[in-house]
Amino acid sequence: MGVVMRILAVGCHPDDLEIGCGGTIAKYAKLGHTVIMCHVANGNMGHVEILPDDLRIIRTKEAEEAGKVLGAEEVINIDVGDLYVTSFNEETALKIAEVIRYAKPDAIITHDEADYMRDHVETGKAVFNASFSTSINHYATKSPAFPGNSCPIYYMDTLAGVNFLPTEYVDITDTIEIKLEALSCHVSQIKWMLEHDKIDFIDFVRTCSKYRGLQCGVPYAEAFKSCMTWPRVPTKRFLP
Ligand SMILES: [Zn+2]
Repeated sequence: MGVVMRILAVGCHPDDLEIGCGGTIAKYAKLGHTVIMCHVANGNMGHVEILPDDLRIIRTKEAEEAGKVLGAEEVINIDVGDLYVTSFNEETALKIAEVIRYAKPDAIITHDEADYMRDHVETGKAVFNASFSTSINHYATKSPAFPGNSCPIYYMDTLAGVNFLPTEYVDITDTIEIKLEALSCHVSQIKWMLEHDKIDFIDFVRTCSKYRGLQCGVPYAEAFKSCMTWPRVPTKRFLP
């Protein structure tokens, strides 16, 4: 594209962006674009044994390490407790709007409304709402109002790709190993899922990327849907 883009990726839990668009984030970074990652929930309930206050700290660190592996400029934690994310919470709405104004993105990536649990669905809705509010001058947050209309949004794949019909694909063949390395930073989750659910999550995510690759003729891919509402429908593609 030749122009340096600013991309904001907003996931729900600390590992969701690695799962849904880690390869794409790494690809943006490799191409010299700026990516800011943000997770709305702090992940404090994602374990059977580790207590929420401790897990919150562990998972914040895991997300920061994963962000470094992907080449993100920054990882922002909005710090809402797991299972308490709602797009109707005004405090959360203001915080997300501030992150968007701070990041000044050319495009935003977030969760699709068909995703598998409420926190994810509500994160996607909250980002959609906030990305409109950012242009409203009297909707005050620390950073100034974002000029112009709402920027394009890409919804990332649902967990395991269920109930998701992509409109865009990103070839992540060159960054699949970086994606999985970033995912491996989420030690508390990988270990927990292996021990308690007998799920090898690295293999799970590799399989999803391979399946999306199969659909578009490359070894590994990630899938997205363009948010088709006025005035976000782009005349050019912002995905790498
Ligand atoms: Zn999640």
